[in-house]
Amino acid sequence: MISKKHNFGAGPCILPSTVMEQAAQAVLDWNSNGLSILEVSHRSVEFESVITKTQLLVRELLNVPDSYSVLFLQGGASTQFSMVPLNFLKKGRKACYLDTGYFAKKAIKEARLFGDVEIVASSRDKAYCYIPDNYELSHGTAYLHLTSNNTIEGTEMFAFPKVAVPVVCDMSSDIFSREINVRDFDLIYAGAQKNMGPAGLTLVIAKNSFLDSVNCELPSMSDYRIYRDNNSMFNTPPVFSIYVSMLNLIWLKEMGGVKEIEKLNISKARLLYGEIDRNSLFDGLANLAHRSRMNVTFRAKDERTGAAFFELASERGMVGIRGYRTVGGFRVSLYNALPLESVEALVVLMREFEQMVAC
Ligand code: PLP
Repeated sequence: MISKKHNFGAGPCILPSTVMEQAAQAVLDWNSNGLSILEVSHRSVEFESVITKTQLLVRELLNVPDSYSVLFLQGGASTQFSMVPLNFLKKGRKACYLDTGYFAKKAIKEARLFGDVEIVASSRDKAYCYIPDNYELSHGTAYLHLTSNNTIEGTEMFAFPKVAVPVVCDMSSDIFSREINVRDFDLIYAGAQKNMGPAGLTLVIAKNSFLDSVNCELPSMSDYRIYRDNNSMFNTPPVFSIYVSMLNLIWLKEMGGVKEIEKLNISKARLLYGEIDRNSLFDGLANLAHRSRMNVTFRAKDERTGAAFFELASERGMVGIRGYRTVGGFRVSLYNALPLESVEALVVLMREFEQMVAC
């Protein structure tokens, strides 16, 4: 049994301990066939069944329509920041972006290398504590880019725009955490490392007609169509990362799928936000309507109290709660694999700490 701390870190790779154990065994001897999963050829029948099963699990868990492709890429979500405009930002057209935080800004910066980019709305004015929903898209928009969960600022989009242009969404930090309607999007991308598998692996779910709208020659490794036409095996895929993702998605299915994990995620988030709002020592950072269920950001009202709480939590085996350097305070990540018991332990500690400070 793997002994684990309460890991509230924002990544990389938060996995259930049973998945870690299965993965460790597969590294030593995969399916008792005398080979490590790391040694197996990606062209083998055995691995083909792994990649097929992983694709099917993605389709089943997210209810992906047949008219969409499920692709496995590498390079993390950051590579998608440039790959999306390279494929879809055609000359004479414009890409529209919602500026909702640190990663949205990074996506915007990369897209600007490829063409005309418009920030149609931004929550920068209020330190990204909300998701703007008032904007217009001009004629000639190639796509609208969204970030469904802002990992650093702790905001999440709970309603997606119904617009007449293709919608591209970075779902790195909330994919598989809640039900979505894939049809609301033309392309979804996600770095795997929050709710799927090891960092580096990147999931792309794309509408085939959107991929077919690309009509230029591109470098092979940056061309979504090449991944689709080669079953994500144009080059050597990240075999181990796909295998671990398959194990994790099997775990998710056994948990009752996305519908059930969403209920659990809501319970975890409610419990923690409830305590933040009740506790006299802390303030939440995100607007109520946009509070992320995956990354809970808050701050101690007094800096010294915050430092003391951080020390105490570390002593009690709670790791990864420090806020991102640009935001400060605390960020507690509640990804799928984090058990409810960890959140309960944190909430008990917050109450205990409040009493300690009062004495
Ligand atoms: N987008 C979001 C919302 C993220 O949370 C992250 C990383 O955590 C990224 C993009 C960058 O992902 P990667 O490190 O896989 O490139």
